[in-house]
Amino acid sequence: MAANTSPVAATDNTRTSLARTPIRRAFLDHVFYTQAKLPGLANQNDLFQALAHTVRDRMVQRWISTGEKHLSTPARTVAYLSAEFLLGPHLGNNLLNLGIQDEVREAMRELGLDLDMLLAQEAEPGLGNGGLGRLAACFMDSLATLEIPAIGYGIRYEYGIFQQSIIDGMQVENTDTWLRNGNPWEIQRSDWAVEVKLGGHTEHYTDDRGHYRVRWVPGKSVMGVPFDSPILGYRVNTVNTLRLWRAEATEAFDFDVFNRGDYLGAVNRKVTSENLTKVLYPNDETYQGKALRLEQQYFFVACSLQDMLRILELHQMPVTCFHEQFAVQLNDTHPAIGIAELMRLLVDEHLVPWDTAWHVTRHAFAYTNHTLLPEALECWPLELFETILPRHLEIIYEINTRFLEEVRIRDYGHGDRAARLSLIDESGPRAVRMAHLACVGSHTINGVADLHAKLMREDVLRDFNAIWPEKFESITNGVTPRRWLALSNPRLARLMTDAIGDGWVTDLEQTRALEIHADDAGFRERWHAAHQANKADLAVLIRQQTGVVVDPASMFDVMVKRIHEYKRQHLAVLHIIALYHRIKSDPHAEIVPRTFLFAGKAAPGYHYAKLMIRFITSVADVINRDPQVRDRLKVAFLPNFNVGFGQRIYPAGDLSEQISLAGKEASGTGNMKFAMNGALNIGTLDGANIELRDAIGAEQFFAFGLTAAEVAALRADGYRPAAYYARNPELRAVIDLVQQGFFSKGDPTLFEPIAGNLLQHDPYLLLADFDSYVAAQAQTSAAFLDQAAWQRMSIPSVARSGYFSSDRAIREYCARIWHVKPVPVPLLRDAEQSATAQREWGRPRAMAPSDAA
Ligand SMILES: *Cc1c(COP(=O)(O)O)cnc(C)c1O
Repeated sequence: MAANTSPVAATDNTRTSLARTPIRRAFLDHVFYTQAKLPGLANQNDLFQALAHTVRDRMVQRWISTGEKHLSTPARTVAYLSAEFLLGPHLGNNLLNLGIQDEVREAMRELGLDLDMLLAQEAEPGLGNGGLGRLAACFMDSLATLEIPAIGYGIRYEYGIFQQSIIDGMQVENTDTWLRNGNPWEIQRSDWAVEVKLGGHTEHYTDDRGHYRVRWVPGKSVMGVPFDSPILGYRVNTVNTLRLWRAEATEAFDFDVFNRGDYLGAVNRKVTSENLTKVLYPNDETYQGKALRLEQQYFFVACSLQDMLRILELHQMPVTCFHEQFAVQLNDTHPAIGIAELMRLLVDEHLVPWDTAWHVTRHAFAYTNHTLLPEALECWPLELFETILPRHLEIIYEINTRFLEEVRIRDYGHGDRAARLSLIDESGPRAVRMAHLACVGSHTINGVADLHAKLMREDVLRDFNAIWPEKFESITNGVTPRRWLALSNPRLARLMTDAIGDGWVTDLEQTRALEIHADDAGFRERWHAAHQANKADLAVLIRQQTGVVVDPASMFDVMVKRIHEYKRQHLAVLHIIALYHRIKSDPHAEIVPRTFLFAGKAAPGYHYAKLMIRFITSVADVINRDPQVRDRLKVAFLPNFNVGFGQRIYPAGDLSEQISLAGKEASGTGNMKFAMNGALNIGTLDGANIELRDAIGAEQFFAFGLTAAEVAALRADGYRPAAYYARNPELRAVIDLVQQGFFSKGDPTLFEPIAGNLLQHDPYLLLADFDSYVAAQAQTSAAFLDQAAWQRMSIPSVARSGYFSSDRAIREYCARIWHVKPVPVPLLRDAEQSATAQREWGRPRAMAPSDAA
């Protein structure tokens, strides 16, 4: 009766075939056996789930092959620790990487189904805020494509980043119930669940063998249950694991309460435990000292390290070889508590001497810094920290004492540097500095673009740079050309492949060969047509979502990213108002028709950013309705920017806005996505903009504004924004319109926090950069008028963007930080899998006693 599970069925090696007919048969099987529906009753979600399972089966075969290979030939494995993974929808990417897009589309067509409609059913796992989480996702794709053994460790948030809608021009947040219809990609691995302690106190004692020991008596504990998702590389058999932890109640702990008859109390405790991984913190760039956030961070790191120790044991390696088996990367300071946790595991639980444990720890960890904003650096108030992690505080004190002693000796005569380096900030209320813990416990500290790495060494981490200059690295971010070009822009991808072959998908430097085609008028025409088609598609979406009708022939001037003062969306709005003012002053003014598109979420508690959204939508309302504008300007704010939406908007941009104040944006990756898709960037000399401009040529990059050094000099001199207002009549007219309430139905107070703040404080120097921004925008207009010339810039922009592939970034991490090498994976066919399984079981499945019974 067990025909489906018998080895005989498994020897049918067509079961996970990539051909059209077996795919169609497998899909129908999943509708029936997995969704338990007759085709006539299956709804859209059933069909999506069935297709996802069909694809997953094909990935599982490779996943198991990868597991077999990694187990039989142990190699150093990257453990990428990140509180955020902003993955985006999986299905389309998995079809691309498996190479079965056409087969599946055709198989669905044969059944009267539209693949695009099924793709649209997938709820996006939005387990991140923005750039940092998206970087982690791009890195996972590149690691698998480069066949590097890697595990991504993170948190399985029940609610990801909130869903944004715009009501009356204002952001409204709704919970993101991405798991509501089930997640077909994840596999729950309850057998690898671990226990995590929290709170309580410590006891110091001497054991029977005379060793000084510390026992952590926790106040509570929770279970961490891993949920694994397969991350498949492009056209390889490597499938790495993304292991996300969910918090559940520990039964043992509730037992006590239960015995006292407090049933509801026990249930309540269960609910409280599960709260730990309930929701992603939606704060961006600004640190908030919330207890639950520290618990989340510790929880996922503690789970992950226990998991790594389990794997080490599987390889029959001692715990002191941890650093040989794992290269642990800290994506920002969120997982930095892992340094103290590994010390605790080694010293307290595995009785490893402190110095050995410290050697292991320091050779395992490396830290990526992501921000120069001082308000974003994580510091935990000492009392809070001690309440949640009493043992870790002791360990941090011990690390600190030893570290500062070392500093004092080698730093003889350097006065208060030790206080500045300390892991404990004692300048105000005492707090644990997570960035300092990360620096002391890591062998390498890297920035994410050259300017950022330089400023990091000179500014936020300058004292560490003074004592350990050799620890510092700069690795410029990148994005995956699979999702951000091959998948999201099939028209351009096809054109590129026709011209230069498809090698660019895994070797983006090959796009250089496109450059000669810029001189071919026929090629430019096809290039233009592909881009126009993308714009026309986006125009339909804009109309559906906002009701705004836009002309695909106009310049699509796009600013999509989190809403933040330092990113300066409001600078773009000042420019729009300036153009509007020109039209109102001279209705016949020559204005190159433009469509300004904005999208991005503001942190729910960040009132200024929310006001910036309202500023954009209010200006849009006035301009879109004004008959005198005659469609020369259109402004739209598109709700709920996320990865799936990005896949439609990056390929449709003509001009990309990267206008942060120089010295504030660590890298930026939106700039790279636009460049790869043929848009031109207008931007400041900030983050990776600088390298992007160097790579693609200054003619293809509209640079403007103060440099980071000039910003520092201007501030040192005493910045007076009102002087710029007084000097520039156009700027004056723009600010006056806002202050008069022209965009707020005559209410002068609504946007006063923007206009008044700019005149008086202007912390991000908008007024200082306004002139130069408007001038650069005039250049973009002039350039856009000559479409042939624009294509001659757009093609080289793509051709020279190879450096910004995350494959290049990951190769650099492998060579300079992780010291890991690719491990090619041979595909086990179904029959061999079955043979392996039989060896492990020791006898054929059919003879197992449970079957006989
Ligand atoms: C790329 C990306 C970002 C980062 O954009 P920046 O312009 O670098 O700030 C944020 N959110 C999403 C959804 C993205 O795809």
